[in-house]
Amino acid sequence: MSKEAKKEKSMILQKEMVSNLFNELANAKESGKKVCYTFIPGNLSELIRTFDMLPVYPEINALQSAMRKKSGAYIKEAEKQAHSEDVCTYVKCDVGMMMNGNIGPTGEKIPEPDILLLSYTGCFTFLKWFETLKRSYPKAEVVLLHTPYQENAEMTPEMTEYMVKQFREVVIPKMEKVTGVKYDEDKLKRHLEYSKEAEDWIVKIFETTKHKPSPIDAYFAGVYYIGPINIGYRGTAKAVEYYKELYSEIQDRIKKGLGPITPEGEMKEEKYRLVVEGPPNWTNFREFWKLFYDMGAVTVASSYTKVGGVYDLGWRHDPERPLEALSEYCMNCYTNLNLPQRIDLLSKYIEDYDADGYMTNSIKSCNSFSAGQLGMMREIEERLEVPVGFIESDLVDPRYFSYSNIKNRLESFFQMLEQRKLIKQEDHTEAV
Ligand code: SF4
Repeated sequence: MSKEAKKEKSMILQKEMVSNLFNELANAKESGKKVCYTFIPGNLSELIRTFDMLPVYPEINALQSAMRKKSGAYIKEAEKQAHSEDVCTYVKCDVGMMMNGNIGPTGEKIPEPDILLLSYTGCFTFLKWFETLKRSYPKAEVVLLHTPYQENAEMTPEMTEYMVKQFREVVIPKMEKVTGVKYDEDKLKRHLEYSKEAEDWIVKIFETTKHKPSPIDAYFAGVYYIGPINIGYRGTAKAVEYYKELYSEIQDRIKKGLGPITPEGEMKEEKYRLVVEGPPNWTNFREFWKLFYDMGAVTVASSYTKVGGVYDLGWRHDPERPLEALSEYCMNCYTNLNLPQRIDLLSKYIEDYDADGYMTNSIKSCNSFSAGQLGMMREIEERLEVPVGFIESDLVDPRYFSYSNIKNRLESFFQMLEQRKLIKQEDHTEAV
């Protein structure tokens, strides 16, 4: 995170994981490992590992480029190649990076894909994204696993069966063909054991924000915490070790009554507790976080940290039903939930974590998150009578981050929260 922040052991572990993955990718040709490009929602990390492949997540490349201030130039290059202004900026950033040698965050080249695995199609852009990549990498195999949307707020046995059939008849045979490795279900089960264990720790970690003050920020720091499971380490002993360590560091903070660690230093006073909906802005991530820090606002729960899987409601990867578990996992990603399900989940967060307000960050690029956000916000406002706020930015396009607009809107929102707090205090005093 920042140079002022003391490096905790968990941060060092995470850094090691990132650098090991990119080193392995840089040496994929020499080691003979096959490379699988895939996306975070519905990622099949355990299955990819079962076939000894290395994963590449184009969204991670895009956000890393944004944090290193390279995304603006990449996006412009893609636009010059006729990628319209309305296309998701993750795609344009990734295409621009590819046109510039495909150099990853560690400065090493990311290898070409042997397989493009599209295991979640809730976002139509994913389909178009891989169509674009297929044109650049004609030798790569393409495999599509269709995930049914939770239209009626449920995962039926028929939906799971439909997905398992695709695993058996399409996905696994294609992976066997690309890697020359025979499918080993026992190996997959062993990876799933680790996933289940890591998921238990993740839930415990995000539940620590019930404490006052909250020892962590579940949005700005939360995106770092979900890193290991979203870059291909779900299903490994390394991820379990990371989450155990992180949990123990957080426990230590709780014992000492400390607030979250931020790039500006430790949060001294927790004035407002928020639930945040929508992805963050990556081009100005630190500035964006600081706006909340300066107001004493801590995020106690967020939807974005559930983009690669919702575990809070009890669902886990079950090693005894490996392919069924992978199917349910894909169907259970946040953006595959219907809008009433999302509203229920966010309302539960507001109540369970005793939040003072609800904030939406609407992302210009991302329809998967942005569609319905205003309606969801109004429903939550009515249902819980909680103050709500709405800001707009983009994922990785610096042209859509307006510091003054966001600051103005946040200031009005925090004034509203302050007034609400005063009214509550007055009511309480009168009642006493
Ligand atoms: S539109 Fe949203 S979900 Fe789809 S690829 Fe872009 S960022 Fe990802």
